[in-house]
Amino acid sequence: MTVTRFAPSPTGYLHVGNLRTALFNYMIARKAGGSFILRLDDTDPERSREEYADAIREDLEWLGLTWDREERQSKRLDRYAEAADRLRAQGRLYECFETPEELELKRRKQLNMGRPPVYDRSALNLDSAEIERLRTERGAGHWRFRLDHERIEWVDGILGDLSLDAASVSDPVLIRGDGQVLYTLASVVDDVEMGVTDVVRGSDHVTNTATQIQIIQALGGTAPRFAHHSLLTGPQGEGLSKRLGTLALRDLRARGVEPAALLSLLARLGSSQPVELHDSPDALAESFDLSSFGAAPTKFDENDLFPLTRAYVQSLPFEAVRGRILALGVPEAQAERFWRVARENITVLEDLKGWWKLCTEGAEPEIAEEDAEFVETALALLPDPPYDESSWSDWTTRVREATGRKGKGLFMPLRKALTGQGQGPDMADLMPLLQKVPGRG
Ligand code: GLU
Repeated sequence: MTVTRFAPSPTGYLHVGNLRTALFNYMIARKAGGSFILRLDDTDPERSREEYADAIREDLEWLGLTWDREERQSKRLDRYAEAADRLRAQGRLYECFETPEELELKRRKQLNMGRPPVYDRSALNLDSAEIERLRTERGAGHWRFRLDHERIEWVDGILGDLSLDAASVSDPVLIRGDGQVLYTLASVVDDVEMGVTDVVRGSDHVTNTATQIQIIQALGGTAPRFAHHSLLTGPQGEGLSKRLGTLALRDLRARGVEPAALLSLLARLGSSQPVELHDSPDALAESFDLSSFGAAPTKFDENDLFPLTRAYVQSLPFEAVRGRILALGVPEAQAERFWRVARENITVLEDLKGWWKLCTEGAEPEIAEEDAEFVETALALLPDPPYDESSWSDWTTRVREATGRKGKGLFMPLRKALTGQGQGPDMADLMPLLQKVPGRG
């Protein structure tokens, strides 16, 4: 069975980049009728916070990305300890005592000599007496995985044939001096024990993947199929990392972006398939095809979310927005008309507020100087609210008879006088909703 997982660290709010990863893994699982795990990578007690874990669940629920199971790394520390013991027994995990400053010095020396800054494995030469001495002097060391120096190869679901010379990277640290198990090991143990079959993540993880493949093999597990999606950039190709803070899913939600817009854009952005509006992640999953994605960085423009949000919002049937409209104070009897009138003129549902305010409090009229006299005459001919469906045509007929104006010259100044805008809803439909018009009460 296909099993995928989304594995955020609860150290911040989810942003569009995280959503891309979550959505790909979700769609792979759903398309295959498999299982999707939410895994909280919370082995760092200093940076992980419950508040972020809650926020992650809330954001995923808002998007309709349901998970079949939740796992937390902080509850599985015994599993990681057991795996570490197995690696130690095989001689694949070795203790190192260099301080960060010493490692930095080594790195700089290597770079000065034009060599790649790969850990020199000097800790492998320590005998047990030296290890004892260092432990007494410096406290427990950190533990590195001894890579086999061979070429690590895999077929990446997006990037195709990939390989990495293990000798070109440092033996990864799996356990810190303070005993904290690092992601590289924890993730592998989880993927193997939870039967994860497919892992999609950002291309910043490619090197991790290579080393993790060896760790999986050392633990006797089967490596999942890996795929690395390109990183998102801004519309000009600029890095998004600094801006991701403002592209948090909850901020976009606060700006009125609809889940359907976010899901539809991110499910297809960077692929050869066109963006199509779907209202659920399951509908998007049906046509999801990992092989249609390319390796090039993917440009993301948050402004693209608004036309999609607009299209989605305008497609909603009255029943879907009824509650929201009634909550604005729109009387039940007028609610359906209000939706009919407003829907073509909003981008986000929040814009409904402005239209109801216009109906109840009146608009700031927009009156051109050359129309001032005409509008004054017209308004004098307008009876007091309430109005009905024939009010607009009755009024404009009388104004035409009184002033001789017709067509656009007649209608446009009147529309602007009542709504403050040159375009908008059908006026005959709007009139019955207007409780206040310029120059009255
Ligand atoms: N917690 C890791 C991250 O957010 C998970 C990476 C992975 O998918 O393995 O980068």
